[in-house]
Amino acid sequence: AVRVSGLRRRFGDHLVLDGLDLELAPGEFVALLGKSGSGKSTLLRALAGLDYDTGGSGEIAVPHRVSVAFQDSRLLPWLRVLGNVVLGLGKAGELGRAALAEVGLADRARAWPGELSGGEQQRVALARSLVREPELLLADEPFGALDALTRIKMHELLRALHERHRPAVLLVTHDVDEAIELADRVLVLDRGRIAVDRRVELPAPRSLRDPAFHEFRDLL
Ligand code: ATP
Ligand code: MG
Repeated sequence: AVRVSGLRRRFGDHLVLDGLDLELAPGEFVALLGKSGSGKSTLLRALAGLDYDTGGSGEIAVPHRVSVAFQDSRLLPWLRVLGNVVLGLGKAGELGRAALAEVGLADRARAWPGELSGGEQQRVALARSLVREPELLLADEPFGALDALTRIKMHELLRALHERHRPAVLLVTHDVDEAIELADRVLVLDRGRIAVDRRVELPAPRSLRDPAFHEFRDLL
């Protein structure tokens, strides 16, 4: 679903991505870890086609339908929930309502974003992503601002939606446990490249105490 080769991105003399290579298969759920400032968001913006004036080179191939979810849900406050979900899709009310039902918010279609909790707003953002039936879902710390319990619920929801729709997912997170729990494959970005690339076996020990994950710690 994704192929990146030799990707370089710099801000001034600061080379952030230094010949990065990456491939994602269709439907693969991949988590991306890395120290703050390692370039995770820069990579996601490049994949999303959002890095307008960053000096760079390299090749990127992504699918046609790409959705992006950020840490703040970025809902438009002057549109109701349903309006946010179907923004730009024309007469898509039915689809929008179905997507809201999938994230458990069927009854909030006419609410304003400001009337929802942070977790509910993130669910709306997920519905907005899914209604576009993306082949690739890029998520930059989408649960970073949520409390622990809401995060766990969002994990279950994201897994369920992934099972149903099978987009490739690239999820940026600071939380190693979250990465190991959710993803089929975990990457660590370090010094401008993918420094660790590990498949998470199922049924996974899915614990940081597992020796297989020791090498992560040195890079985070
Ligand atoms: P975090 O985990 O804190 O979100 P990150 O891995 O997402 O970090 P990026 O946001 O990709 O890191 O930033 C990578 C580096 O590029 C940082 O050193 C940052 O200061 C620099 N950078 C990012 N955007 C810009 C910009 N618009 N102008 C200048 N430097 C930038
Ligand atoms: Mg970031």
